[in-house]
Amino acid sequence: MSTDREAPVAAAATETAVERYKRLVAERATGPTQWLEPAPALHDDMLWRGLTRGGEARLLLARATATVREATLRLECSPDVACLVGEIAVATALVRQTLHPDERIQMLVTHKGPVGQIIVDGWENGGLRAYVQRPTALRSDYGFLLGEGTLQVTRSHDASGRVWRSTVELQGERVAHDMMRYLLESEQILSLLDVDVQADARGVIAAAGYLVQLMPDGRREHLRALTHNLEGLAPLRDGMSEADPDARAWAEALLRGLPWDQVARTPVTFQCRCSEDRILAMVGALPQGDIEELAASKELLEMTCDYCQTTYRLAPRRLDVLLEPPS
Ligand SMILES: [Zn+2]
Repeated sequence: MSTDREAPVAAAATETAVERYKRLVAERATGPTQWLEPAPALHDDMLWRGLTRGGEARLLLARATATVREATLRLECSPDVACLVGEIAVATALVRQTLHPDERIQMLVTHKGPVGQIIVDGWENGGLRAYVQRPTALRSDYGFLLGEGTLQVTRSHDASGRVWRSTVELQGERVAHDMMRYLLESEQILSLLDVDVQADARGVIAAAGYLVQLMPDGRREHLRALTHNLEGLAPLRDGMSEADPDARAWAEALLRGLPWDQVARTPVTFQCRCSEDRILAMVGALPQGDIEELAASKELLEMTCDYCQTTYRLAPRRLDVLLEPPS
């Protein structure tokens, strides 16, 4: 007589290696989403990647609240500008993850609106920094922040010295959507990209975003399913909470119908790569006569980084290395 408990043992004993492999693959294909443990705390900035088991789609999800708060506080941005710069920064972190791991990216927004030029750099290690020409602009004074203009995306790979540059026209106030067009037009990556940033007079309160990318194995029907899942989904920032800092319920709802796993998590941080040596190199680009004049001065040479607002004070004798020897 056989009992229910004995049956699986008997089956396993007669199972061939091929049958066992097929069973494990089938179990894996339909099993619940695997999550990386432990989940980060809600106050930790991070970016994670999820991949469907059939390789149809990839989900990138970013939280950069502290990073964007620091970048925009250093620039003394108004809440309106903090939201705009925050949107570009979060989208930059997401788009950078679609590139080769050693590439960095720069977003340059040039336009006729009241905010002026905006630059965001995204480094290989998840570091971000931002610059904005007129950080105190208010939407209520003009009715808009961005004017007619362009988004220029520069990718660079230091080891090979290669640089790729593409430009898309701005279409309204949502730069994240312009970046989605850049991905499609320049990188042939079909994606859904959106960012959600909130700020008040004290600074940025929430900054999060997602990018769903259709992979080469994905078809239009998968994109349609994802678009359908997005309808009615809460804003991503509301999908992240103390109880669910990874936005697991939100992500499961977005990828409903596609078995998938969370596969990698990386930090996102504010980072500026300025240094006294880099400031010195900038002075070195001036005409030799100007360098001589500065080196002969008795006053400290003060220069402030446009991104992180750190002020460097160089003693004039530090400029001696830049002076050409007398011929
Ligand atoms: Zn700096």
